[in-house]
Amino acid sequence: MVAQVIDGKAFAAKVRGQVADQVAKLKEENGITPGLAVVLVGEDPASQVYVRSKGKMTVEVGMNSYEHKLDVETSEEDLLALIDKLNNDPAVHGILVQLPLPKHLNEDLVINSIDPAKDVDGFHISNVGLLGTGQKSMVPCTPLGCLMMLRDHHGSLSGLDAVVIGRSNIVGKPMAQLLLGDSCTVTIAHSRTKDLPDVVRRADIVVAAVGRPEMVPGDWIKEGATVIDVGINRIERDGKNKLVGDVDYASAAERAGAITPVPGGVGPMTIACLLANTLTACCRSNGLPEPEGLTA
Ligand code: NDP
Repeated sequence: MVAQVIDGKAFAAKVRGQVADQVAKLKEENGITPGLAVVLVGEDPASQVYVRSKGKMTVEVGMNSYEHKLDVETSEEDLLALIDKLNNDPAVHGILVQLPLPKHLNEDLVINSIDPAKDVDGFHISNVGLLGTGQKSMVPCTPLGCLMMLRDHHGSLSGLDAVVIGRSNIVGKPMAQLLLGDSCTVTIAHSRTKDLPDVVRRADIVVAAVGRPEMVPGDWIKEGATVIDVGINRIERDGKNKLVGDVDYASAAERAGAITPVPGGVGPMTIACLLANTLTACCRSNGLPEPEGLTA
């Protein structure tokens, strides 16, 4: 079997197009422009690239983008004061604090000071609890993007066996909750899992979120399974820098029914879902119906 490639770049462009259409409608019919505030503390080069690209895409879909770049020495008090201001600003519907924060800042405290209704990253403890209890919440962007691709490919996920490799708070755990919400039978694997190959071989859906280059070989994949590779690993091969996932793409593509490549799979969906979440937050805060197909 040669796997169908799930083109995350094209899918993300489609999602951004849907968001842009809804934003245009909101402006025209309700006079509302969704706004996303992104806060960056310090000058981490990777974070700067992410923030720039988030700002650019926010504007491209017709939303307002507010960037707050703070000095690396910013005190917790000043950061919390900014978040408080954004929480109370009616023009701001989504707030994202770019992680990681410099060591002197308490990440949990900062994230939990964001108004949960504006927490477009879905990391606030209230949103984690709402998702865990199957209630309406803001859903973390990367798992939401994976869910959208899976629903698009399968239609219904009900009854499928899914394994999520990785149990982080930002990817693995929310991913498992979302799959459970769609009635999959979910296994969460991690570094202490006894027989990972056996666990993976039983799965109709494999979501790999580990951070280890190509650790899942093709012969672990059940014939016809859907493979979602969240991993982004920079490696050097043949003297060149390369991005690879957590799955060995070449061998997995020979057995899977469908697979996301790296790059061009899950990655582009993350920002598209951030925009979708901002639109959702804006609709909810204005008592308007949520955009269809863009939420969990
Ligand atoms: P974390 O490091 O927070 O979590 C990694 C998880 O993998 C842990 O739960 C760990 O288990 C598990 N793990 C480590 N080694 C093994 C092993 N040998 N076998 C089984 N499980 C193992 O990573 P993240 O969840 O933050 O990210 C995972 C990957 O996804 C990274 O490559 C990251 O760059 C990428 N990523 C991509 C995004 C995108 O937009 N595409 C967004 C976010 C992340 P344990 O808990 O036992 O230690």
